[in-house]
Amino acid sequence: MTIRVKILLLGLLAVASLSYILGVRIVTEGREHAAKLEFLTRLEAAAALSSLVHELQKERGISAGYLVIRSPDNTGLLDAQRASTDRAMVRFRDPETPGLESLARLAETRRKISGDAMDPALSFSYYTQTIVEILDQIDALARDSNTTLLTRDLNAHVHLLYAKEYLGQIRASINESLSLGTVDKERLTVVLRLLNLHQFYIRTGLRDASPEVAQALRGVLGQAQVQHSFALIEGVLSGSGQAPPADQWFATATHAIDQFLSVEGQSMRYLRQQAENEIAASERRVLLDAGLALTAALALILFAASAVLSLLRALDVLITNIEHTVATQDFATRIQAPNDDEMGELSHSFNELMGIAEHLIKEKDYFASTDLLTGAYNRYRFTELFGIELQRVQRYGGGLALIMFDIDHFKDINDRFGHAAGDMVLKEIARLVRSLIRANDVLVRWGGEEFMILVPHTGNEAADLAEKLCLAVEGHHFHYAPRVTASFGVSAHVPGDTLETLCARTDEALYRAKHQGRNRVRAVFAAEPDAGPGAASLAPA
Ligand code: GH3
Ligand code: MG
Ligand code: MG
Repeated sequence: MTIRVKILLLGLLAVASLSYILGVRIVTEGREHAAKLEFLTRLEAAAALSSLVHELQKERGISAGYLVIRSPDNTGLLDAQRASTDRAMVRFRDPETPGLESLARLAETRRKISGDAMDPALSFSYYTQTIVEILDQIDALARDSNTTLLTRDLNAHVHLLYAKEYLGQIRASINESLSLGTVDKERLTVVLRLLNLHQFYIRTGLRDASPEVAQALRGVLGQAQVQHSFALIEGVLSGSGQAPPADQWFATATHAIDQFLSVEGQSMRYLRQQAENEIAASERRVLLDAGLALTAALALILFAASAVLSLLRALDVLITNIEHTVATQDFATRIQAPNDDEMGELSHSFNELMGIAEHLIKEKDYFASTDLLTGAYNRYRFTELFGIELQRVQRYGGGLALIMFDIDHFKDINDRFGHAAGDMVLKEIARLVRSLIRANDVLVRWGGEEFMILVPHTGNEAADLAEKLCLAVEGHHFHYAPRVTASFGVSAHVPGDTLETLCARTDEALYRAKHQGRNRVRAVFAAEPDAGPGAASLAPA
């Protein structure tokens, strides 16, 4: 697997992991949001059931009154209340509505009440049973909710409903006793139990309600008229004081119940408001998370893509350069470091390696081509350069000459001044000659105290250069020997020449210079091919 595939896989893996984590988060948020929406639906159902309870509580009281006194007023009141209850019941008419079985018997009960075929106590029990069933239903709605949202507040709300219902039952019970004019022990026990239940639910309601609802409830409990109704209950229970007329008691208790009803409304508004706030907040969170997920995924993809691209580009540059170097053996190549990162370091190291290679190769070339004593080229290099020049002159013409020179009586210099002095003379003569020839001319140490000069773009006039050099050597003041002279042989290229033929003529010329007395120049020029064979000409001695 290539690096680029590995990097791409890594990028994909990172994006997939990020998407998974954020996806899980979004799904969780979404579930919570759905639970909150469902909670709101339950809250609406609880509110509707609460208002139905309220209507049934009113219908219970009016039915009881109607069963005691069948006045036209009471009949009208009962009809109006039944219509009001029916309106509150519309959404629960569905026979599927669970837990409201006793509501199904409402029509039958009403018929019996209207036909005077029902005992007031039985009517009261029927309504009470139905109301308690509905209250349990509301309680179940609060309990079954699959969110912990507002649990305590909802609990407090349900307890308020129970407290209000038990006060309603106390109102009816005492009302009946006062109407009959007798308070028996059994009824007192019932009232005491109902009062205990009412107080229990008030306490738990105060404990669990939000501060603002609890404060409203405390306000109601502190109201003079509410306290008056509880004082009346205490009076009835203890049998002390004057029992109030039934209608006065009923009005006082009803006022207290209405006060609790207003707290109930406030509690429901609070619950709704809180639920809606929570839902809006979770909607914002889901949106924020989705936005975050999208931005993070995009940023990751962009970052990974740009990192991969720049890495691949740098790798391409490196690979191309290495391939080029291998193919051309051109160790002068350097890479432009793309970034200040690991690839930059790699490029930098590559460049350093190339620098070392270039230096080693130059050194190798130098040692392979140079005479270390004099700094002149050696015969090996001469052969290479001569080949190049020969090709040039064969293709394009322009002349090529050779000058060979040999120091005269060099053995004597060694003998007289020592071998080291001889070496210094060799160095000095090489430096002198190099200073007098062109940059293109090539000085070669041919061997011992013999040198060769390759003179490109030059023909027979190379003899003039040799003359100049011969005079210069003779006139030069050498540091390690009093007088140094050299003999020079010159020849120039003619078509058909090879290294051997040209060298042989130059050697022949030098031989003549030596034999004719040394410290002089002799040339052997070959005749042009059209001049016929053996037409070599000798330059004047
Ligand atoms: P001729 O004029 O005929 O050329 O006389 P010559 O003495 O120069 O020639 P010969 O061939 O008799 O002697 C050449 C001497 O050069 C012999 C050798 O010891 C000396 N020689 C060769 N190479 C070196 C070198 O690298 N350093 C020194 N100091 N002497 C060298
Ligand atoms: Mg010599
Ligand atoms: Mg010699």
